[in-house]
Amino acid sequence: MIDLTQPEVKLALQVVQQGADVAQQVRTAMADRNLTKDDLSPVTVADFASQALAARAMQQATPGVALVGEESADELRTDEGAEVRKLVAEFVAKFDADATESSVCDWIDYGTAEPNDCFWTLDPIDGTKGYLRGGQYAVAFALIKNGQVELGALGCPNLGEGCAPDMGKGVTLIAQRGHGSWLSVAGGEFKAIHVSERSNIADARVMRSVEDSHTNASQIDALNAALGVTADPVRMDSQAKYSVLAVGGGDLLFRLLNPGREDYKECIWDQAAGAIILEEAGGRITDLRGKDLDFSQGRKLLKNTGVLASNGVFHDAALAAIADVCTLP
Ligand code: AMP
Ligand code: MG
Repeated sequence: MIDLTQPEVKLALQVVQQGADVAQQVRTAMADRNLTKDDLSPVTVADFASQALAARAMQQATPGVALVGEESADELRTDEGAEVRKLVAEFVAKFDADATESSVCDWIDYGTAEPNDCFWTLDPIDGTKGYLRGGQYAVAFALIKNGQVELGALGCPNLGEGCAPDMGKGVTLIAQRGHGSWLSVAGGEFKAIHVSERSNIADARVMRSVEDSHTNASQIDALNAALGVTADPVRMDSQAKYSVLAVGGGDLLFRLLNPGREDYKECIWDQAAGAIILEEAGGRITDLRGKDLDFSQGRKLLKNTGVLASNGVFHDAALAAIADVCTLP
């Protein structure tokens, strides 16, 4: 069981639910505006608003604990940032009466801390391209203690019917080390979730990015052929893919390196919450060599190469196929 009244659990749920709410509100409100300039993109406003609210919640719940977020307010504080700053303050004020243009910048910058032995990491909107398309995105928040993810939450407002069995529209997931993974649909009761027990690799559903540039698409095709996978893949942006793996709606995920970016190292906020949610649901996640993800290396997974995630059953076969098919840097 997970104790939903425990302060860290409550904070994690508040952060991903408020982040998801503000992102949805920004999208609805800004869809009506005739936007021409990139710098007024709804994703920019929603990203900042989500991080400001997360930092604010943390300052109230666990003052002094570091937040390592994806955003900083540097651009918002400039003259060019004035219009976005005003919008961010307006949207954050719907949740917190103390929000002003100046306070939201300070809250966002609370999230520019460096990792230490106990900190939270936040992707205020993971899957920005999905968010803009009206597709999948996630608010991702995780607690890292001594280099290990201890707790993680994902808010996936657009995940629902058609993405995985038993999902209604709008899901929140939370996992705590040793306490399982839990899912709430549309604000309902949390229920334990589990990865698939699928064991015939031909039927494995491979979770794929929408953006081919985040991985190596032709090599994923080659791996599927080597493994004998014949089922259709499931394509979506963001850590929502890990949510689908954790509920058994998918079986495998290869985060291979883009051939033009072989030096790419994953950011901790792009992996931490999804990783613990998958592991606590019974799945497995390693890098492409089978090494555990090492969250003790600062803002990036400097000691890992790519990511392999699975229902556990297919993991060793997938590692063997990667060793055969891919030349890793
Ligand atoms: P996805 O939605 O799975 O395609 O992944 C989205 C995430 O990919 C974003 O949060 C980016 O931080 C990250 N990303 C950006 N460029 C790359 C790259 N070259 N390789 C891997 N991930 C990337
Ligand atoms: Mg991201």
